Amino acid sequence: MKEEELKTIGPGDEGRLHPSTVYGPVSSWRFGSSLGVDLILQASVCSFNCVYCQLGSIQIVTLERRLFVTTDRVMADLEKSDWRGADLVTFSGSGEPTLALNLGEAVRAVGERTGITTHVLTNGTLLHLPEVREALCAADRVSVKLDAPDEEMFQRVNRPASNVTLAGIVEATVKFRAEFTGHLDSQVMYMPVNQKMTGELCDLLNRIRPDEVQLNTPKRAYPAGWFVETRGRYDRDSAPAKLSELKTIGVEDAGEVEKMIRERTGLVVSSIYGE
Ligand code: SF4
Repeated sequence: MKEEELKTIGPGDEGRLHPSTVYGPVSSWRFGSSLGVDLILQASVCSFNCVYCQLGSIQIVTLERRLFVTTDRVMADLEKSDWRGADLVTFSGSGEPTLALNLGEAVRAVGERTGITTHVLTNGTLLHLPEVREALCAADRVSVKLDAPDEEMFQRVNRPASNVTLAGIVEATVKFRAEFTGHLDSQVMYMPVNQKMTGELCDLLNRIRPDEVQLNTPKRAYPAGWFVETRGRYDRDSAPAKLSELKTIGVEDAGEVEKMIRERTGLVVSSIYGE
C-alpha cells in the first residue's frame, strides 16, 4: 500500500478489510492480560523498520502524522470487546502509535471509559514534538524502545526514516522523562548482534533514568508480509505469510546482561526470561 492510499477509518467501515481496532486481551510476560488498541489498522506504518519487527518489513516508513482511525470508531470497537477481562490497555498495533494524531484523545477516552491502566509503546522518534509528549502524558505508562548504543547499530537494527538519529531520540526521551509523571520503561530488544554493547547502552540508560528497563529478545517470528493479526497473537499454521525464526539470546546471556545493567545503573530490570 502507498502512503497516499491510506484513508481515515471510522464507524461504518467495519469488515474484513478493516477489522476491530481493539484486539485481545492477550497474556504478556510484562503486563499480565493486555488489551490491544490499534490506531493504524489498514497497513503497517512506522518511522522505524526494525529487523525483528513482528509486523514484518514495514510497508510505509514515514514520520508524517495523520488520522488513521477515528476515536469514535475505537470507542465503538471497545464496547464490543472483552475489556473487562484486561489488566492493561496497550496502544501499539500495526505500527508506531505516535503517528496517529488522535493518540492523546484516544488514550484519555479509553482510560475514562474503562478505568484500566493505559500504556503506549513508542519508538521515540516523535518525542521531540511537544504535542506528542503531551499526548503521551495522557497515558499511565509509556515504553520507549532503545536497542542500540550508537548511530551505526541504530541504523542497522532499527532502520529509521530519513534524518532520524539515535542522539535526537535520546535527547527527546530525557526531556519527556522530566515531563512525564507516569511509569517510564526503556525496552531493549537483545539479539546476538547487539548483546555485546550493554556497557555503552548503560551510559544512555543513565542519562534517561527510566523507572524500569525491560529486556526482550525476538521470540515472535518475522512474517514475509504484514497481515492484521501480526499485531497480536495468531495461529501460525494458518498465517497467510511465510514466517521466519529470528536469532534470540539465551537465558544465560540474558542473565549476564541483566546483571550488568543492574550493577552499572542501579535501575529496576525485568526480563522476558524472568516470566
Ligand atoms: S518500532 Fe515497533 S512497529 Fe516499528 S518497526 Fe520497530 S518493532 Fe516494528
